[in-house]
Amino acid sequence: MLDFGITGKTAIVCASSKGLGYGCAEALAKVGVNLLMCARGADLLEKSAQNIRDLTNVTVKTVACDITTPEGRAQVLEAAGDVDILVNNAGGPPPGNFRDWTRDDWIAAIDANMMTAIELTKAVIDPMIERRFGRIVNITSGSVKSPIPALGLSNGARAGLTGFAAGVSREVAQHNVTINGLLPGQFNTDRIEALITNSAKAQNVSTDEMRTILEDRNPTKRLGDITEFGFACAWLCSAHSGYITGQNILMDGGAFNATL
Ligand code: NAP
Repeated sequence: MLDFGITGKTAIVCASSKGLGYGCAEALAKVGVNLLMCARGADLLEKSAQNIRDLTNVTVKTVACDITTPEGRAQVLEAAGDVDILVNNAGGPPPGNFRDWTRDDWIAAIDANMMTAIELTKAVIDPMIERRFGRIVNITSGSVKSPIPALGLSNGARAGLTGFAAGVSREVAQHNVTINGLLPGQFNTDRIEALITNSAKAQNVSTDEMRTILEDRNPTKRLGDITEFGFACAWLCSAHSGYITGQNILMDGGAFNATL
C-alpha cells in the first residue's frame, strides 16, 4: 500500500468548508494529516469538519474567521500549533472591467489572494525549516498561466503570489520545505456555479446549456471534481515530494492547449 509518509503531521487548510479547500482537507485527512480548517461561516465549517472526522481518525480543529484579516490569521495560527503543511486559499475576487476598479478594489484582491498567503507563509516557514519538513501549496488559478480578461483582479494578485513563491521556494528547498502552486481550471464548486449563472445571462442561454457548453469545450468533456484536486494537493504534500518545488501545476483537464 502506498504510504504518503505524512501521517500525524498537521495542516492548516484555509477556506475549506467547501469547494477546492474542502477537497484538499479531506484528501490530507485520508492520508493521516491532522487538520485546522477555516472559513467565515461557522455552521458549514463545523458540518464539513465533522464529515471528515466521520471519514477518518485524524484530529480536526476549526476556526470560523476571515483568513484575509490579520485577526483571522492570528486565530488560525494560534489554534494550529506546529504547522507542517499549509494550504493557502481564499475566495476569489469578483469579475469586472478594469476601468471600474478602484485602488481599494485592487488592495482587497491583493490582500485576499496574495498577501494572505504571503503572511501565513512568513509565519510558518522558519519553524518548518528548523524541523526540516514543510509543504506549502498555494491554490491559485489557471488564470496565472492563461489570463481570463474579466478576472483582472485575480490575474494580477495571483501572479504576484506566484512570483513571490517562485523565489522563496528555491531559498528553502535545501531544508525539505517546498512551495508549489495548484492552478484549477473549471471545477464543480459553488464558485463555478456563480460563473455559469453569470455567463448564461450574458449569452442568453439557460444555466444547463451554459454548463454543457463549458463541459464540451474541455478535452475531458466535463468539469473537474474536488476529490481530484484534493488528491493532487495530498501528492504535493507527501513526504516523497521533496524534489518538486517552485512548480505551478495546471489542473484543467487539458483545456490550456500547449505542448509543454
Ligand atoms: P467555493 O466553492 O465558493 O468555496 C470557497 C471556500 O472558501 C468556502 O469554504 C468559503 O467559506 C471559504 N472562504 C471564502 N472567503 C473566505 C475568507 N475570506 N476567509 C475564510 N474562508 C473563506 O470556491 P472554490 O471554487 O473552492 O474556489 C476556491 C478558490 O479557487 C477561489 O479563490 C477561486 O477563485 C479559485 N478558483 C476556483 C476555480 C474553480 O473552478 N472552482 C477555478 C479557478 C480558481 P465562507 O464563505 O463561509 O468563508
